Amino acid sequence: MKLAYTTQDLAMLTHLKNVLEEQGIECVLRGQHLLGGVGELPPIECWPELWVVDEERQPEALSHIKALLSPAGTDDNPWACGECGEESPATFSECWHCGTASPALRAAC
Ligand SMILES: [Zn+2]
Repeated sequence: MKLAYTTQDLAMLTHLKNVLEEQGIECVLRGQHLLGGVGELPPIECWPELWVVDEERQPEALSHIKALLSPAGTDDNPWACGECGEESPATFSECWHCGTASPALRAAC
């Protein structure tokens, strides 16, 4: 088995599991029993984990998860400048207003 994803958000993890299983990728959730006290953030090592049973399908599972977590069309949305707050079209790599690099461009660096 290989770890595919971990998050504090058990509902999201369950959703991902369902979607992957629809794709015929067998997976299991681990660690959700560790989520204890209500209103108390569990430390990261207690986060529930999504494991892919067939290790060879893990890359495929990861690409599904990536697609699910960044819905189609997101890249076409305008982005807000972190410096001045002005919105620039997705095709701009720098803020039209102040020239600050877009978050996507910074993430790529
Ligand atoms: Zn700006």
